[in-house]
Amino acid sequence: MGMDSGTLFFAAGVCATALALTMLSVWLQNRMDRFLIGWMLSMALLGSGVVIYSTISIAVKPASVIGFTLQIIGFVAVYVSARLFVGKQTRRGTIALLCAGLALPVATLIAIDLDGIGIAIYNLFAAVMLVMTAWEYWGTRSESPVSISGITLLYLLTALSFAACGAVLLSDGKWMLDARPNNWAENFNAIMSIAGITGIGALSIGLNQARAARRHRLEARTDALTGILNRRALFDNLAIDRINPGDAVVVFDLDRFKSINDQYGHHAGDRILCQFALELRKNLRDGDLAARMGGEEFVLLIRRASLPAAIATAERIRAAFTASSLQAENGAVASTASAGIAIALASDDGFESVFLRADAALYRAKNNGRDRVVTELQVVA
Ligand code: GH3
Ligand code: MG
Ligand code: MG
Repeated sequence: MGMDSGTLFFAAGVCATALALTMLSVWLQNRMDRFLIGWMLSMALLGSGVVIYSTISIAVKPASVIGFTLQIIGFVAVYVSARLFVGKQTRRGTIALLCAGLALPVATLIAIDLDGIGIAIYNLFAAVMLVMTAWEYWGTRSESPVSISGITLLYLLTALSFAACGAVLLSDGKWMLDARPNNWAENFNAIMSIAGITGIGALSIGLNQARAARRHRLEARTDALTGILNRRALFDNLAIDRINPGDAVVVFDLDRFKSINDQYGHHAGDRILCQFALELRKNLRDGDLAARMGGEEFVLLIRRASLPAAIATAERIRAAFTASSLQAENGAVASTASAGIAIALASDDGFESVFLRADAALYRAKNNGRDRVVTELQVVA
């Protein structure tokens, strides 16, 4: 099979440009993903650089300089996007320094007719940038082991193909070129570029969509104000990890909360709710669940709790919340909470019946003067 690396590179350039457009359309649907913008930019830069390289003779120096400069900036953009994907920012100064530090020597060598060595150095720079990119992805492989291993492997193979091009050019020792280099390494590099761009592109879009789906699932499970589980998430969790005999259910309800809203405003009320959620969180152990059931009512499920231990936890939360005071525009807001506790028995057939007993205890806490913890059997505070 006769292969012409120029045609293959042209195909790689077209692939990159098509992928840039795909990324643009994905980004338009979800503008939160800045990483997609980075990728789109990289593909547009690499695509246009490669199309220039593959269609215009390298004897036309300005075109050659522009083509390679675009590609080098494209590789820097690939690296910066990988860092964005893994949640790292790159300073603008560092990006500018990388672009200038890599592009200037290559552009200068090509401009002064030492294009053989210029292109060899370009290939080595590209290989280094791709290995650094692979390294960034590899660090997050636990997020999605198969996709991220695939992306890392594709980046490394593409890096290897660039390194091979550089090595062949250097070993040929031709500092001045009269035509595009055409050897086995160039063909390997062109094929790897096509495979890398399409494969990494598809895997990256898949990863990005999986992330978006995870984010939406989390948002659907989280109470937007306090950040703890919402009612639905509590029941979803209990469907997987059922309540067992010996688990304690504590139902909290903030006292006279309506009058706090009336006196200090809804915003102060919201901050009080967050403060209470914070006290709940501080007392969560592994396996326990804390949820906002709605309004100013919260539930804490304590796994394998003796009654005294459950009382102690509820009492600690109540006392800490009562002691905390919040500054509103028209004075300090003091707020209290009441709690009811029930322990799951072997005869309970699910969360609801335990919850109802805890709720009945809460009702008694309210009737007995509020700001207290009441169990199914006894008044504690
Ligand atoms: P009690 O001690 O008997 O529980 O009295 P209460 O005033 O706390 O009970 P009530 O059920 O009469 O009022 C609950 C109030 O909680 C009414 C509602 O405006 C307020 N509330 C519910 N959700 C929110 C919220 O998200 N933010 C704020 N600021 N207030 C809320
Ligand atoms: Mg209340
Ligand atoms: Mg209530």
